[in-house]
Amino acid sequence: MKTNYLCPKCKGFLNVGENVIFSTRNKNHDVGLILLHSELGNYKVIKHPDYHYEEGERLEFFCPICHKSLSTGGKEKLVKILMVDENKTFHVLFSQIAGEKSTYKITGDNVEAFGKHKHKYLNFLKSFDNYPYKDMKL
Ligand SMILES: [Zn+2]
Repeated sequence: MKTNYLCPKCKGFLNVGENVIFSTRNKNHDVGLILLHSELGNYKVIKHPDYHYEEGERLEFFCPICHKSLSTGGKEKLVKILMVDENKTFHVLFSQIAGEKSTYKITGDNVEAFGKHKHKYLNFLKSFDNYPYKDMKL
């Protein structure tokens, strides 16, 4: 089964091989590419050894193709991308805080949550008009 990840802005493919590629910026305004694992709940990160950020630091995420911001939701920002699984499209949201393991796969009013910090953004998701989740899998 082939899963693809797309930028919600330009619809370009963000996944190459096993990884999903993002352009990021740390608090010092250094920029670097980050490769996240394409399996939801796998928090393996690949980056250049000279691109540094601290655990707990909030990174900004951009599409590496169109360079638009992928952040959503104001202050409690999450990254939002599209996941296309055969014919179904999901929104995938995840924390942009380094080391924080919280990922959400959303379709209609169904949210599937991953990672040991998955509880942190549930209230935020509840307040999100587009994601009234009734049937949540935790
Ligand atoms: Zn894009």
